[in-house]
Amino acid sequence: MRYIIYVFILLCNLIQAQQLRIGLFRASELKKLSLLNSAGELSLQADFLSFTFFNNQDFSISAVGNDLILDAGIQRLGKFKKLKFDPLNKQVIKIDCINPDLKELTYTGAFEITSVKGEIKLINITDESNYLCGVLKGEAGMNKPKSFYDAMAVVSRTYMKFYEGRHAKDGFSICDQTHCQVYKGYSHYQPWLDAVMATDGIVLKNPDLNGYAEAVFHSNCGGMTASAKAVWKNDISVCEITLDSFCLNGKHATWEKKISNNQFNSTIGITNNVIDRDSLCQFIQFCHTGERPNEFAFGNLVVSAVKMRSLFSLRSAWFDIECLNDSVLFTGKGYGHGVGMCQEGAIEMALQNKDFITILKYYFKKVAIVNEKFNTILYRRNVTADL
Ligand SMILES: [Zn+2]
Ligand SMILES: [Zn+2]
Repeated sequence: MRYIIYVFILLCNLIQAQQLRIGLFRASELKKLSLLNSAGELSLQADFLSFTFFNNQDFSISAVGNDLILDAGIQRLGKFKKLKFDPLNKQVIKIDCINPDLKELTYTGAFEITSVKGEIKLINITDESNYLCGVLKGEAGMNKPKSFYDAMAVVSRTYMKFYEGRHAKDGFSICDQTHCQVYKGYSHYQPWLDAVMATDGIVLKNPDLNGYAEAVFHSNCGGMTASAKAVWKNDISVCEITLDSFCLNGKHATWEKKISNNQFNSTIGITNNVIDRDSLCQFIQFCHTGERPNEFAFGNLVVSAVKMRSLFSLRSAWFDIECLNDSVLFTGKGYGHGVGMCQEGAIEMALQNKDFITILKYYFKKVAIVNEKFNTILYRRNVTADL
């Protein structure tokens, strides 16, 4: 009997562990939203009151101070501190953000809603596979080859596990913005569902199997992935610099941007009497190295390529600068930070019939690929080969 109780508790813990708390719309200062239950039974816990609703019930929720004003259709239900909506038939719930006005999205799972200083704090509680399908919706696009989706599912699962709990102080695990991974809620797009199911349990770990790999990705590396140290100051050992020939014909392989001389100088914080046109051009010759530049020198002023990307909203930190008569022309390669897996390269590899293990090994050199469900190692980099 004791054994049965123990197994029951263990199973409950496992079921609990598979649920993920995702903070939604945190960057949007949300003040009002509507929630629509179009089919199935919906339970609502509003502070100490319990309600049950059925088909086609819409709710309006507004934040006032630390309270929520809740209406069900045209009926005011009252003012509450905390709401929890739970779709009992696992049906899809539609969320329409009204203030600010955002594109409506659908979700599976429960919702916890509170208000802090007039801002709605919305948490979606759903299982990992629903979450990962919503990440593929946000990060992978449609009509791509199968092994690219498989690789993305593994990378997104790993990323989720690596960063799980980073928002713990706000009561959720991971957010739905680029800060973590873009999560767009429910999807029934079969290729994404298939990729999440086909790779169930598969993650990237460090080669000593100690901890999850920091599996970052970006749109297009421009032909060579970047070092994490150059982008974020701290190294990511699984992300070695990789020469990538697969993304060179990708949609985001190259870019251009023109900035007026005045805007360039004022943005970078230099004035014409500090740096004239000739010295600017001298500097431009300096950065034509054919590789990713790390930093640029303007006389005594040194600015990192990553900082330049941020200052001028450039697609990547890999670029050359050409001095025109009244403007500066940036010509660059790639899109995104450039570290880890290059999505457009991975798509091309998948089109060339490479499987997802081959794709992952290509971009994450020092890594182990593990199926945690069956406790098997699918690939492990021979660490001693590096010594
Ligand atoms: Zn986040
Ligand atoms: Zn690439």
